Amino acid sequence: MARKIFTMSFDDGTVQDRRFIELIDRYNLRATFNLNSGNFGSVHNITHEGINVCHDEVSSDEVRNLYRNHEIAVHTVHHPNLINCDDEKVISEVLDDYKALSELSGKTITGMAYPCGGHCFDDRVIKLITENTPIRYARTTDSHHTFALPEDFMKWNPTCHQNDPELFSIAKDFINAEAGENDLLFYLWGHSFEFDKFGSWEKFEEFCRLISKNRDITYMTCGEIYSYLTKKNAVSF
Ligand SMILES: [Zn+2]
Repeated sequence: MARKIFTMSFDDGTVQDRRFIELIDRYNLRATFNLNSGNFGSVHNITHEGINVCHDEVSSDEVRNLYRNHEIAVHTVHHPNLINCDDEKVISEVLDDYKALSELSGKTITGMAYPCGGHCFDDRVIKLITENTPIRYARTTDSHHTFALPEDFMKWNPTCHQNDPELFSIAKDFINAEAGENDLLFYLWGHSFEFDKFGSWEKFEEFCRLISKNRDITYMTCGEIYSYLTKKNAVSF
């Protein structure tokens, strides 16, 4: 039977993940966290879209416990734009992050999100990752505003960003949608520091209240969705 699946994918592992996880755990929502193992414990503010915001990152010794209910995925060791890295650097940024996160979390890691936004990967980067690392899916930042399943797991486009002006109408459309013959996927992406940036924690809790506890929605991590869809397709062919 077709499913309606909701997932979230949040990047950078900043300290606001603590509040975010406490919030989504209260609503039994599931998420994937894309982490930079070379930046754990770093303390700095950034200017993001013109707004100064705390971008301190969690420490390595809290990773295992903080993310225990969720998926951990690669976001590279140091967050470079992979297009500007030579072949060796692309592989080491992904593979070394995979190894460090596997060791710290004790979890099986299968996915990643490309660092540095939408135009930060190309066919060379994808080929290097798929041929040299265990990473099998990678999220982009190109929102498509639909509930479509990915056509290419290495170019997995999300539905929308946490601050999308259409977030609530997309959520209502998803709640009212019928899965029919095909699975539907509502895939939200963002950064927990952006709730500080936009002052939108309360609004996001309202969203959690709306999207959670719907009996016909399955709440999964991105890795669980990858595994579910690849197994399902393997059976049907
Ligand atoms: Zn990032």
